[in-house]
Amino acid sequence: MNMILKNVTLNQKLCDIKIEKGRFAQIAPNITPTPNDDVIDASGKAIFPAFYNLHTHAAMSLLKGVGDDKELFSWLSQDIWPREAKFDADIIYAGTKLAMLEMAKSGTVFFSDMYFEQAAIMKAVAEIGLKAAVSIVGFDMFDPKQTTQKIDAIKEFLDLYNPAPDLIQKTLSIHSVYTVSAPLIEHIAKTAHDNNMLLHIHASETKKEVEDCKKEHGCSPIAYLEKLGALCPRTILAHAVWLDDNDIDIIKKNQVKLVTNPSSNFKLNSGMFQFDKLSKANCLIGLGTDGSASNNSLSMFDEMKLCALSAKIQANDPTAGKVEDVFAVATSNGAQIMGIDAGDIKEGQLADCMLVSLDNPLMFPAHNLISNLVYAADSSIVDTLICNGKIIMQNHRLNDEDEILKQAKTALKRIH
Ligand SMILES: [Zn+2]
Repeated sequence: MNMILKNVTLNQKLCDIKIEKGRFAQIAPNITPTPNDDVIDASGKAIFPAFYNLHTHAAMSLLKGVGDDKELFSWLSQDIWPREAKFDADIIYAGTKLAMLEMAKSGTVFFSDMYFEQAAIMKAVAEIGLKAAVSIVGFDMFDPKQTTQKIDAIKEFLDLYNPAPDLIQKTLSIHSVYTVSAPLIEHIAKTAHDNNMLLHIHASETKKEVEDCKKEHGCSPIAYLEKLGALCPRTILAHAVWLDDNDIDIIKKNQVKLVTNPSSNFKLNSGMFQFDKLSKANCLIGLGTDGSASNNSLSMFDEMKLCALSAKIQANDPTAGKVEDVFAVATSNGAQIMGIDAGDIKEGQLADCMLVSLDNPLMFPAHNLISNLVYAADSSIVDTLICNGKIIMQNHRLNDEDEILKQAKTALKRIH
């Protein structure tokens, strides 16, 4: 079934938009529907690209509010890892769905996940109908036995759902230089290269990580990852807060992509991403929420606002982090980094979009709707979410919302 969005506001003007075979087929002042078209009255609503959340740990939605106000390493070792030890596939499935419910309601159509139990995550993604990059987590805590087990698990992951289902992109990940041995980093880097896969890494998140890496390996995490062959145009570095000029040169030389996670960096007092400097150096930057335990929201609205504000403080310049640039980081840049042919409302592109209510006070007055999205809005403005031309949410409600919450409640009982 094709879809026509009637009387929708695009770039502050009214138009009709036809969606056919999952793509924006026609954008025109007036499109006459045929009997095959499902017509949606979008009067009073504006259309925008949906968000691409480029770094999260979705199932951690079940750990929201656990171990707040702590330093990264003690938070992980005392609060998060002991609870995660109780997570199994059913719990991760329920947690991933809970996260997707929150993401869909806040306009996110895609998330890049770094977590365990990939089959359960893929099942959850397929059921809700969002898009995701699902990675197997490279993590061995320098234990040779775990290294061997992980190498076997990566092989199994490559064979799992091969090719990956429609909405899913399989990726590889390296948790960090402080949790993964050099042999495993090299193995994952080579596997990503051989299979042309994206490689997702937490890197240079804290000052301590950089100092420890320099003590241990004589160079920064970025230089160390380059030495082990893990940096290339398919590499995506999350956080990347503590970068010096040499690191930035390495990132540019290898065309590495970056993902900023401002809420998580602020909450853990990790530091501020150099948004202005890295944008001016022409690095391609995406935006991510990180997991619910370190944010604690999965709303890209919150991330955009913090991204813009912290860009100004970090550069000591109110012209840094302009609204159009920050909105692009949350939308078209994210799609580009993940190789998804979407991110703009443009004929020919995949129809990933949201319809937002213009009569919501957060969107009024409409002097600059992008500015309203970045600085004023929250998830309450998102009325409809469309992913690959299919409606995921209408009237700010998903069909199986009650069931998702019920499953999450059952899962919670098993981790306490
Ligand atoms: Zn993370």
